[in-house]
Amino acid sequence: NQQILLDNRPEGEATAANFKLVSADTPPLKDGQVLVRHHYLSLDPYMRGRMNDAKSYAACQPLGEVMQGGTVGGVAESRHPDYQPGDQVVGMGGWQEWSVVDANQPGMLRKVDTTHVPLSYYLGAVGMPGVTAWYGLTQIIDPKPGQTVVVSAATGAVGSAFVALARARDCRVVGIAGGPEKCRYATEELGFNECIDHRQHQDLKSMSAALKAACPDGIDGHFENVGGHILDAVLLRANAFARVALCGMIAGYDGQPLPLQNPALILINRMRVEGFIVSEHMQLWPQALRELGGLVAAGKLRPRESVAEGLAAAPEAFLGMLRGKNFGKQLVKLI
Ligand code: NDP
Repeated sequence: NQQILLDNRPEGEATAANFKLVSADTPPLKDGQVLVRHHYLSLDPYMRGRMNDAKSYAACQPLGEVMQGGTVGGVAESRHPDYQPGDQVVGMGGWQEWSVVDANQPGMLRKVDTTHVPLSYYLGAVGMPGVTAWYGLTQIIDPKPGQTVVVSAATGAVGSAFVALARARDCRVVGIAGGPEKCRYATEELGFNECIDHRQHQDLKSMSAALKAACPDGIDGHFENVGGHILDAVLLRANAFARVALCGMIAGYDGQPLPLQNPALILINRMRVEGFIVSEHMQLWPQALRELGGLVAAGKLRPRESVAEGLAAAPEAFLGMLRGKNFGKQLVKLI
């Protein structure tokens, strides 16, 4: 069983030298356990935060242990009555080819149906990132039909689910993404009304002017994945009573400070700005996953994926995703 461990903690930017590829035997199964062969491994921005030792909402990743993370795969062996060899499952198997899972522990393993939804989507559009988009849109932004909503990191795993959910609610949806190719994909394939290239608008004045042009009726809701001058510009263009779902601030994940230029705008616009962690709202996941699965089955949510081949490719694919090299949900294909 090949595995990738966190070997040492990054100082500033994470590098491939923070990880270590090793081989280990898989232990024999005990009662209640299931052996899963991973087909896809999910690479997510939150993993960057867990590599640090700093205080955070998520426990830090212990050194010398397999990198934790979401996986989908097939049951190879089972000593649990609810799981049979051949069942397809989603779990938190980590950066390795196989995992032994205690299936009695709640939330460790879930069977999935791949009739209408590709297996890999359970790590993206119909998985944690999809539910993240759903939560911020429905529970915080709560838009009315015709309102304008904006999302940053627009073509990524969360952003691509967000636009499908917002279009289903008849919103005008404006994305912010890196580069002309991603912006074209956003409008031509994902259904964004407009997409702003943040590489062309790297300061507050320029981003604010771009948002003004793309949002002639102002901004009623914003889903923030990036932070920095993007959030500042949105506050400048926000309508009275606008809502901001603060989901991620990836521009600061290597330790860059992201000061807010003018917090008084939150007061002036009487805004609601709310951070959230999707794993703290498990009771809403079934409802969210039902809607997301329905959109996929109906052909209204078919985002692209970036797929790296083989476990050894995981560190570089992960670091690339943090820098925007991914085009949609970043995965590693194992078999
Ligand atoms: P993505 O698939 O969107 O990949 C990350 C993207 O971030 C990159 O492709 C890049 O897109 C963008 N990015 C990186 N650095 C910068 C930068 N400096 N400025 C602008 N854009 C940047 O990842 P996810 O969809 O999985 O996650 C999106 C966000 O959601 C992250 O911030 C993540 O931490 C957060 N999140 C939060 C959760 C919660 O519970 N609160 C749960 C899940 C995710 P581009 O090339 O377009 O710039």
